[in-house]
Amino acid sequence: MTGCLRLLAPRYRAASVLRLTPAVLRAWGIDAVMLDLDNTLVPWGAPGPSPAVVAWAAGLRDAGVRACLVSNNLSGRVRAAAAALDLPVAPGRFKPSADKLRRGLALLGSAPDRTAMVGDQLFTDVLAGNRLGVPTVFVGPLAPAEPLRIRAVRVVERAVLALLVRRGLAPAGPQV
Ligand SMILES: [Mg+2]
Repeated sequence: MTGCLRLLAPRYRAASVLRLTPAVLRAWGIDAVMLDLDNTLVPWGAPGPSPAVVAWAAGLRDAGVRACLVSNNLSGRVRAAAAALDLPVAPGRFKPSADKLRRGLALLGSAPDRTAMVGDQLFTDVLAGNRLGVPTVFVGPLAPAEPLRIRAVRVVERAVLALLVRRGLAPAGPQV
């Protein structure tokens, strides 16, 4: 049971992806990131990333932090967001399979122990990252409005996160 739980445990937590400055990432030993899209970089239903998120991605690039998208959403919306953010998209099977992240690592050419999976969901993003054995960063969603299927998952996610925190397997709250 603890083994399964550990696979869901994020190593780091942030209130929002925007808090992940190059300085914060470097302090955590991270110099490349694989990024979820929906509600990590773009709110559900929004046409594209906000100017703040575009500026954040540019800030990473300027600081030499490599980044790519590893979205499960394969629509034209992902390609449009990738273009707006000037980020490559990793191909591959859906998270929580680690396949897409393995391809993301190859795309970035970065060391697995210094490449973080960053996302807003434990059961896809964090699980896929832990399966691959890379550092994981669990970020708060950009917007509270989410599709019904995600809201249902959040109920279970909150309970699992509380258990992880009680067991000392996850940070008690956002560190940044
Ligand atoms: Mg997401």
